[in-house]
Amino acid sequence: MPNCYRCGQYFKSGDFQLRRKVRTGEHLTKQYRSGKTNVYSVRYGPRVVCKGCAKQIDRENRRAQFAPYFGLLALLGFLFILYAAELVIQAINKPPTLSSGVQDEF
Ligand SMILES: [Zn+2]
Repeated sequence: MPNCYRCGQYFKSGDFQLRRKVRTGEHLTKQYRSGKTNVYSVRYGPRVVCKGCAKQIDRENRRAQFAPYFGLLALLGFLFILYAAELVIQAINKPPTLSSGVQDEF
């Protein structure tokens, strides 16, 4: 009976099987004498996964796709907060003005 590559859950007969690119292994090359790591690579390949794991993998891929923009969005939000604080400070420090409908009487 086939099972999910990621979580190991067995598929029931008739269950829709999905394929996703998952981490299948890693490869490490070390120098013989010093033992220092030369190359470290991670292997990925298409495997059959269950619906829950497929949703989770899709969510992780989407998150990774938009991750570079989160920093930019946070910076824009911070600049907007600074601008709003500057407007509030200007409004507080503004000297009071006469309203247009009231005239001084002599
Ligand atoms: Zn699974």
